This record gives sequence, structure tokens and C-alpha cells, in this order.
Amino acid sequence: MSVKASSLGFPRIGSTRQVKKSVESFWSGALTEKELLEQTSQVRTGNWKTQAEQGLDIVPVGDFTLYDHVLDHSFMFNVIPKRYEGFDLTAVEQYFAMGRGLQRPAKGEKPAVDVPASEMKKWFDSNYHYIVPEFSPETNFTLNTTKTVDEYVEAAKEGIPARPVLLGPVSFLLLGKAARDAPEGFQPISLLPKLLPVYKSLLNKLADAGAKWVQIDEPVLVLDKTTDSASDYQTAFDALHDDRINILLATYFGRLESNINYVKNLNIQALHIDLVRVPEQLQQVAEAIKDKNIILSLGVVDGRNIWKNDFESSIKIVNKAIEILGSADRVQVSSSSSLLHVPHTVVNEKKLSDQVKDWFSFAVEKCAEISVIAKSINNLDSVKQQLEQNAKSINARREFTKNSNDAVRKRVAEVTPDMYKRQSPFVERRTKQNLNLPKFPTTTIGSFPQTKEIRVARQRLGKSEITETEYTEFIKKEIEGCIRFQERVGLDLLVHGECERNDMVQYFGELLDGFAFTQNGWVASYGSRYVKPPIIVSDVSRPFAMTVKWSSYAQTLTSKPVKGMLTGPVTILNWSFPREDVSREISSRQLALALRDEVVDLEKAGIRAIQVDEPALREGLPLRRADWQEYLNWAVDSFRLATAGVTDSTQTHSHFCYSDFNDIFESIKKLDADVITIENSKSDSKLLKVFETQSYTNEIGPGVYDIHSPRVPSEEEIYARIKEMLQYIPAHLLHVNPDCGLKTRQWKETEASLVNLVNAARRARAEF
Ligand code: GLN
Ligand code: ZN
Repeated sequence: MSVKASSLGFPRIGSTRQVKKSVESFWSGALTEKELLEQTSQVRTGNWKTQAEQGLDIVPVGDFTLYDHVLDHSFMFNVIPKRYEGFDLTAVEQYFAMGRGLQRPAKGEKPAVDVPASEMKKWFDSNYHYIVPEFSPETNFTLNTTKTVDEYVEAAKEGIPARPVLLGPVSFLLLGKAARDAPEGFQPISLLPKLLPVYKSLLNKLADAGAKWVQIDEPVLVLDKTTDSASDYQTAFDALHDDRINILLATYFGRLESNINYVKNLNIQALHIDLVRVPEQLQQVAEAIKDKNIILSLGVVDGRNIWKNDFESSIKIVNKAIEILGSADRVQVSSSSSLLHVPHTVVNEKKLSDQVKDWFSFAVEKCAEISVIAKSINNLDSVKQQLEQNAKSINARREFTKNSNDAVRKRVAEVTPDMYKRQSPFVERRTKQNLNLPKFPTTTIGSFPQTKEIRVARQRLGKSEITETEYTEFIKKEIEGCIRFQERVGLDLLVHGECERNDMVQYFGELLDGFAFTQNGWVASYGSRYVKPPIIVSDVSRPFAMTVKWSSYAQTLTSKPVKGMLTGPVTILNWSFPREDVSREISSRQLALALRDEVVDLEKAGIRAIQVDEPALREGLPLRRADWQEYLNWAVDSFRLATAGVTDSTQTHSHFCYSDFNDIFESIKKLDADVITIENSKSDSKLLKVFETQSYTNEIGPGVYDIHSPRVPSEEEIYARIKEMLQYIPAHLLHVNPDCGLKTRQWKETEASLVNLVNAARRARAEF
């Protein structure tokens, strides 16, 4: 009798971001396809070995990816939109073309290629983004590759106790969308009967290769809409059933609620539930499957946050599960979700104090935690020491937070209602905001290309190879270059370019009190883009002004207005690892007050437009609708608290990395920003209709081109976009801007794109 230790997935980026380096070198032509595959195979093997060494009895395989695991499934099942075909690309080139678009001239026999990237969406409520599969009645599912089988075979050869991972068929279809050419009303889920045989053939191949178990992820089961998917799930798991291979159905990020009523009857041999997010669901789920032949996998080690596990409380949960299910054999210990959302290892952190480091566990350490929890049930004596050490750490952390910043807590408690309100309503304020902007004002979202020189200068400052003064001079030069560039291109509302920022959240985390930040705490955001989220460790406050010197310097260089640029409280919170000991709401309000001081200081310094970005407002929405209002209330409050300290004559902006506002429209209105810019170019312009039908009255800049790809949009294309927008948004409210910041782009394509953007806006000015 024993409890097995497993995890649902591991970070794919490598301990030192090797995968980013390999993939980007391949894109730039510095690495051959063969070298790319060899280098990344080493990372993959290393990951498996690490997990086994930490004591996992079951190691996930097939979760590794060169770009995105959902894209891997699209590619594997031949869900490849026609626009990526016919260019004589290798499989790897075609795969990356789907992920990031491809633009290259004809070369010899090879035709020219110009295809945009596929749409990208947030992965549930995380900051990971997946490539949205596109389905149509013509989708021809076949096994285009056998990636999962190949990786299983690779791992088995290494002696790894491997369990292959697949995204389940129902989630795969429901996370996708109807292709543009699909008939009106087409539902991807209608393809389930066509898809299942292909999944089944993959399972057969896994079984042939010797796999005894497969983990099938169906995270969609924690969303509301799936109460009516019962029959789809039943069909799917009946079809996938195979005597040779057992199925672990994995759910994560939320609660099953009433879905357990049909999930318990599915043809599955194990079920995984997230007990970090929703510890309360243990009782209900365990009772429901008690009389079934189903193992329960307990997600007790947090796959989404970095705090050390509290063994005492986890062990209680495991014991409770055993008590209900009647046997330790029916229980597994696991991570709550894939560990892809946490950094690789704490061991790489050389700058954290011992005290702080002792609070954290990253992916490698979490595997060890899972193993210790399982062992504590199997053989308590073997882990006595680890349990004692853990209790000490957990206590030390508790002691620390007791003595947090009282002044900050007091200030939050004393906020008054008028602090959430601008002086006058928008229509009145607008007449006082004299920025001398033309009709269809052109602007950007804030960042300009982060070149190698910028990164090198920042690194050299970090290593004290240059002085603070030298660095400041360097940044000033960059800002000046950026201002001159924008003047030359002909933009109207300028920005300083954000070159001093390593990242829009990390930068503020490093300047605020109450954060800890890592050297190597990278987590995947999308493709080869990783972020290093700061960690909120205590009460948050602003010891000194953070951006004023850069913004006001930029404004001295030009007669055009320069926008101040801040990251909003909700986004800082959502893109940081939050505390476990206080609510997100409290941290958000503390952040709002810190930012309020900055906004007021920017105004005092003569900045007339201030943008407070909230790209992560929407992704912070709880997965279940019943929980939305509570979140939106404090999120809106926080934004207003941060921005409402200025006079009427200052124009406030906000930016969102999505345009799907239908269901949070009231909250967007309540933010009461003077101007909002939104990501839009890859969405259906129907989404903008909501601004018309809900009579949105403030100014709006829907993005006119996609910035996630190096592709240069033509003037014609942008002009057509503007005309399309005018169907929904009155001309006097429309701004013209890209979808998002330009930091990931090169100067060359940035210049070409912005010249086209400015010309398109000029044409619109003459026409409308
Ligand atoms: N101001 C930020 C930038 O331009 C906004 C980025 C974002 O919305 N993700 O980079
Ligand atoms: Zn954005």
C-alpha cells in the first residue's frame, strides 16, 4: 500500500532559459533545425531526470513544448489552417509560422511567405497564453505527428517512470474557435465524433509503446458552461477507454461543483482535483467517487504560486482523503496544476536573503515537497526531519508577516469615498484637456524596441560595470532617440519608450516596498517570451517617485505632449505572485495608493496625459461567474483610487490587452479613464459593437495592427481597419494606435509599421 507522488507538468523553459535561447537562435538563422531539436531534447531529458531525482513516482511527459502545448495538439491532430500551407515549409517552420506568423521573401525555389500569427488567448486565469485552434467542418483530423508518443518512448528509454500528458478532446475543442470560413453558427464541439478516433489512435500508440497510464487534462470542467457538456464527456471517455491504458482525468484551477455528478460516472481510472484553490471540494468529490473504482489525485502543492507548502495542512488533507476512500492505494499526491506557472528552482537565487529564500519553493522544490508528503503517509520516519524543518519555516514566515507595515494598513482603512472620483464628469473634463491633438490622434502603447544595447547596459549596471550616472546618461540618450523617432514618424501623442524597464511589472516591484524579486524566477508568458514576476511578500508602499524623472525629462525634449506611463494596481497584482496570508483585495488597495502618489507627482511635474495600464484586469476574473462581482468591485475601486487624484485637465489613459468587453462592460465604464486603448487587430471587429450599443462615451483607440509578430501591416490595411472602426465608434472619440507595446519588436519593422499607421490616420483625417 502506498501513496504515489506525481505532478501534472513541469516548466518547459529550462533552468537557465535554454529553450528561449535555442528557439530564438533558430528563428534568427543561427541554429539549424537539427541543432534546435538536439538542444531542446537535452532540456527535456534534464527535466524528467530532475523530477525523478526529487522523488516523483510518476513523471509527466509530453508537456514539453517549443512554443505552446495547445499549438502542439493542433499540430499533432492536423488542425492547421489552410493559410499556413503551400509554402514548402518544414514541419518545424510551419509550426512556428502558426505560432508567431512568418514573413520572408522568395528564395530560390522557395516562394515568398507572408502569414500572420494565429490568435492567442490567456490560459484560464493565468498569465500564460495559448494559440487558439481554428476549426471548421473541413478540419481533417489525422495524426500529423506523434510528439507525445515520441517523448514517452524517449523518457521510457531513460528509465523515467513516465506518464504521458494530453489536453483532453473536449477542452481542446472548447478552447478553440470557429475558423473565419466556417459557416455561421458552427460549433467546434460538433467535431467531437470526428476527433475521438484520432485521439484513440494516439492512445493506442502510447499503449503499444508501453504506457500504462495517460493524464488527460480537461480544465474546462472547472468553468460554468460545462454543466451542459455531460454527454460530450461521456461520449469522449467511452470512446477513449482502452483496457491497456488507464486514464487520469485532470482538472485544475477551480472547482468541479455539480460537474462531479457526471464526472464520477465517466470511464476513467483516476481523477485529479485542485485542492489549493478549492480545498473545500475534497469532501464532495471524494464522497462522490467513494464507491467507484477511481483513484483520487490530490493537488495539494500549489502549481500557481511560490510559497513553501505547509506540510501539516497538506498531510491532513491527504489523510482525510484516505479516510473517505478507505485506502492509501486510492490516493495520489500531486501539484494543483502543471508547474509551468512557477520558476524552475530556488537554488538559482543567489541574491535573496536566507530568510526570504526559506519562504519559497519553485518547481524543483515542489516536486520534492510532493514526494515528502507522499512519504509521510507511507513511511513517516523516513521524512521526520523534513517535516520538522518545514514547520520551522512556516512559523518563521508567520512571525514575519505579523510585523508588517502598520502605516500602510492604516492608510487603506482611511480611504474616503471622494478619493475614488475625478473632479468632473468626462464631458466637462474633456474641454479642459488641452493637448492640441488632431482628429484621429496617433499614439503608441508605451514601449519601444528593447534592443540588445539596452539590455546590456542594464546588465552592466547590475554588475556595477557602469555607474548609476553612466546608466542614467545612457537611458536619457535612448529616450531622446525615441522622442526624435516619434517626431520624425509624425506621431501626435508621444511616449518616453519605457527603455528603463526590464518589464512593466518587475520594474515597479523593484521600486516599491513590500516586494521580493528573483534573479532567475522566469515563467513562460507566450512562445519564447518569459516574465519574472515579482513576489509580494508584505505590505506595499512607495518609498520615492518611480517614473517622474524619466517622463519629465522626455517632456523637456519636445513640444508635443508626452504620456506618463504606469502599470495599474490590478495588473501589478495579477502579474506578481500574491501573498497567501492576506487577500488579493488588500494588496490591490495598497498598490493603488502607492500608484496614486505617483500619478499626482507626474501631474505636478507637468505631464498632461498619464496612462495607467490594466492589461491584466480581465484575466484576473475568477473562473466562475458567481465570483466575478466581488473581484470587479475591488479591481475598479483600485484603478479609480490610483487615477482619480489628478485635476480635470490631466488626461488619463488606460490600456487593455484584449477587446472582449461584453461581459465586463459596466466595469470598464466605471473605470472612467479619459482614453482607453485596446488590443483589437486580431479580433473580429464585431467585438467593437459593444462600444456602440452600450453607448460608451469616452475616447477609444482599438489597436490597428498586431504587435506580436514582426509582420509589417500596409497603410491600406490600417486604413481599412480605421474605416471599419468608424462603423462603431464616432470619429471624434477614435484614437489610432497599435495593439500593444512595441518592446518585443525590432526598430526596422516598428518604423515601417508606424509610418504606415501615421499615413493611414492622415488619410482618415482628410476623408472623415
Ligand atoms: N505600456 C506597456 C507597453 O507598451 C503595456 C504593455 C501591455 O499592455 N502588456 O509595453
Ligand atoms: Zn497590451
